[in-house]
Amino acid sequence: MNRENTNRQTAKPAIRIGHGFDSHEFHDGIQLKIGGVVLAHHRGLGGHSDGDVLLHAITDALLGAVAAPDIGALFPPSDPKWKGADSAVFLREALQRVEHAGYAVANIDSSLILAAPKIGPHAGKIRDRVAELLGVPADCVGLKAKTPEGLNLDNTAIAHVVVLIERTDRT
Ligand code: MG
Repeated sequence: MNRENTNRQTAKPAIRIGHGFDSHEFHDGIQLKIGGVVLAHHRGLGGHSDGDVLLHAITDALLGAVAAPDIGALFPPSDPKWKGADSAVFLREALQRVEHAGYAVANIDSSLILAAPKIGPHAGKIRDRVAELLGVPADCVGLKAKTPEGLNLDNTAIAHVVVLIERTDRT
């Protein structure tokens, strides 16, 4: 192995990326929470925790960026402790792992796919809350909403997230 390869394997990268995906099914009679924000709607997202599909995808993106175990491994749905849990708890744990690894969030981008409700009117509030949870300015949080045209998934909410983290020990 030559010197160049050795250095590449031992040096801590200046930046790393992470990707997260999640989906949850809509159910009648439960509260809808997306990005840590409660939205007025007649249906909410099922799940063992509060069903916050966006925070779950962000959590997995953060964990993936530092090659940590995923959300299901850290917070197993089989554990009654997480029943009805605020998903901000999961995100905070993932963020701590990023920080302990010596990194900070540079920015995230996300796509939400759901038939209803319309996200546009709530996008500012969701971005603000996600930015607050991540400790970044709101202009470092991208949020795009799409309808699931042609997917036959009107009863499902899907979130895709990518995150960029950067080393904190660089000047
Ligand atoms: Mg989930």
